[in-house]
Amino acid sequence: DAAKPSNFLRQIIERDLEQGIYSQRHWAGIPGDAATQQSGPLDPARIRTRFPPEPNGYLHVGHAKSICLNFGLANEYGGVCHMRFDDTNPEKEEMEYVEGIKDAVRWLGFSWDAHGTSHLYQASDYFDFMYRAAEYLVEAGLAYVDEQTPEQMRANRGDFSRPGTDSPFRSRSIDENRNRFREMRDGKLADGAAVLRAKIDMASPNINMRDPALYRIKHAEHHNTGNTWCIYPMYTFAHPIEDALENITHSLCTLEFEDQRPFYDWLLDRLAEGGLVNKPHPRQYEFARLNLTYVVTSKRKLKQLVDEKHVSGWDDPRLPTIVGLRRRGYTPESLQLFAERIGVTKADSWIDYSTLEIALRDDLDPKAARAMAVLDPVKLVIENWGELMGGDDQLDPCSAPVHPHDESRGRRSFMFGKELWIERTDYEETPPKGFFRLFPGNKVRLKYGHVIECVGADRDAQGTVVQVRARLVPDTKSGTPGADKVKVKGTITWVGVADGLKAEVRLYDRLFAVAQPDTGEKDFLEELNPDSLKVVTAYVEPSLGSSQGDEKFQFERHGYFVADRKDHDSTAGKVVFNRVTGLKDSWGK
Ligand code: ATP
Ligand code: MG
Ligand code: MG
Repeated sequence: DAAKPSNFLRQIIERDLEQGIYSQRHWAGIPGDAATQQSGPLDPARIRTRFPPEPNGYLHVGHAKSICLNFGLANEYGGVCHMRFDDTNPEKEEMEYVEGIKDAVRWLGFSWDAHGTSHLYQASDYFDFMYRAAEYLVEAGLAYVDEQTPEQMRANRGDFSRPGTDSPFRSRSIDENRNRFREMRDGKLADGAAVLRAKIDMASPNINMRDPALYRIKHAEHHNTGNTWCIYPMYTFAHPIEDALENITHSLCTLEFEDQRPFYDWLLDRLAEGGLVNKPHPRQYEFARLNLTYVVTSKRKLKQLVDEKHVSGWDDPRLPTIVGLRRRGYTPESLQLFAERIGVTKADSWIDYSTLEIALRDDLDPKAARAMAVLDPVKLVIENWGELMGGDDQLDPCSAPVHPHDESRGRRSFMFGKELWIERTDYEETPPKGFFRLFPGNKVRLKYGHVIECVGADRDAQGTVVQVRARLVPDTKSGTPGADKVKVKGTITWVGVADGLKAEVRLYDRLFAVAQPDTGEKDFLEELNPDSLKVVTAYVEPSLGSSQGDEKFQFERHGYFVADRKDHDSTAGKVVFNRVTGLKDSWGK
């Protein structure tokens, strides 16, 4: 591994390792997880990070940044990264998402195992402990059951310009709070009738410190704990506890949690005083979330696009979901490269979509096999073919390297014949300035084939070109001696009519028509690009007849394409390619 550039997180980690601040910590183990009860293989001196998604949707490119960061830093410093499901919200979470998230993390190249380097945990396994922690706060006079209506609570919280107002329930006795909290737990109160709140400071300039809610009532079934609970911990209460129980050292999150950090520290300090969690406790560090132009990165918004069928599913190749990117032809390596290149900063910004595509091209260029494809086909007829070859149905085998910089990958072959498919845009009756391709009287090379001279074109009643006519210039076949004695200014790609394969090609464009969707006044749905998908019938060279779903190619002149993971089945004669990206950046235009 080449030395990686430093960033503020690497600096913090290196400082902490040097000072050994976590090496003195006693490892308590995770409640209910026998294998972590003994200190054995779990070295408290190592850094521990975690990737903590909520299983309420499929992961997106922003999560990829977080995954590469958390797992990447742990790997780099010989530490541990936990895969943790932050499943404290029973209503929006599903097993389908749990499985989808695991698949995405594994596909990106990271793993966890039983008790080696990384671990798989779920926050709901700590519900008993969280409840005990809440009761501890009640007993310590640090939490109370508030029965104001949600509207009263909101009004009494105050805002940036004025302090909040104490709830009339704030001065309840410890006994009363304990009993009422147990009644909440035992299902005696309806949803929304009460919440358990921390007792901190209703006048704090930080609104998050104005007695934040710790537990709410939700009579809802949870995908892991079923109907055991009808009260569920709030994210802000649960998350620090999860981190502490797992002995996380560096809890990395996005900037919007910066204002939560004082509560994170308050809570863990109080719980440490009560002997419930270890010291020194984990520290939260915030980094800028990834905003990528022309897409949205919010699970909620992505879910809406899927549910309302603006796209074909979570794996629609236009979506920035990991499954969508994968189907679009992105590789784990390209996403890792992207994450490393964008780095981590403390200031929010938008990353240009082209940065993602450049990382992909850099990864695919040395890997992808080359192929010829004609995306907007029109027939080219070589009028003197039969004369020169001794029959109209004669074919002339041609070949090209699978990869131009790696001869060891061999050659692909295809047939030149009287009839070929060429791009419609490669012919102009009256050539505009600088046009060097087919127009009457001009000579071009058909790549890896022969030089031809254009004669003209036939049109239908509407004036549309139905076929282009040309004559072959003898003794100009690529790779034969003297082939380049005839000088041409243009070279075009082609596919033989005799052996070309018909293919469905899906030409994807940006999902949104505006660079920063969902940031202005407009509903983000109105900002969708109506032309984000065009499906064409193309012809591709015969080497693609044995391609497998997920295989990536560079179609010469056109860009990168991937055989669709779901719909491509070349053995059944169904050849479907998705355009991954063009050869050059077109996002700035
Ligand atoms: P969303 O709003 O898309 O649902 P989230 O933050 O609610 O995102 P979580 O499942 O809670 O989703 O996220 C898991 C982890 O991924 C968190 O640590 C979160 O900070 C990080 N993450 C989410 N979105 C981004 C992003 N756009 N850039 C970087 N990290 C992100
Ligand atoms: Mg979240
Ligand atoms: Mg969210």
